Amino acid sequence: MYLKGVEIQGFKTFVDRVRLEFGPGVTAIVGPNGSGKSNIADAILWVLGEQSARTLRGARMDDVIFAGSEKRRPVSMAEVTLHLDNSDGSLPLEFEEIAVTRRFFRSGEGEYYINKVPCRLRDIQELFLDTGSGRGSLAIVGQGRLEEILSARPEERRAVLEEAAGIARYRWRKKEAEQRLEGVEQDLLRLNDLISELK
Ligand code: ATP
Repeated sequence: MYLKGVEIQGFKTFVDRVRLEFGPGVTAIVGPNGSGKSNIADAILWVLGEQSARTLRGARMDDVIFAGSEKRRPVSMAEVTLHLDNSDGSLPLEFEEIAVTRRFFRSGEGEYYINKVPCRLRDIQELFLDTGSGRGSLAIVGQGRLEEILSARPEERRAVLEEAAGIARYRWRKKEAEQRLEGVEQDLLRLNDLISELK
């Protein structure tokens, strides 16, 4: 699997729709300071489900929406699509090309799509689990991230290693199963209370 291109509209500096092509062999993006190079990495992380405005170098999630400039008015929606080549089948979907889209409106509403079909954030997170390219992976290392990893708490550092080793999926499923189990235990307690009331 590799990233073929990114389509960005209304996200940070990219007010008009642009499509960046990353054919095999592209290794660097160059440009003047402040021209928006890091915003491209932010856009990719954002589609992968990043929920922390701070990681995206903002204070609130709507800071990712183009905020206006001298010549342009602010816009009300940000949209980014990743175009992925999946001809090696490393993403668990029966498509050779996969488009993953995230939209966010100033009103606070968010939408996610896989190949233009609406989906949940969780579907996107699951799609990338163990591919080494998910939101928390080391596929995108932002400025300051290395220092952050070096000074992270041991359990945070372990989470990074677990994703790289391909066991993050199981930890995720275990957590979900534990939550469901807890729900069932609560239901059982309530049921027992009802039974004893009826006796
Ligand atoms: P450097 O080489 O200095 O790291 P860069 O090319 O990586 O720079 P970015 O950090 O990607 O640049 O872009 C910073 C620019 O993005 C700033 O000019 C900032 O004003 C602009 N920017 C960030 N968020 C928004 C937004 N919501 N709307 C409009 N512009 C924004």
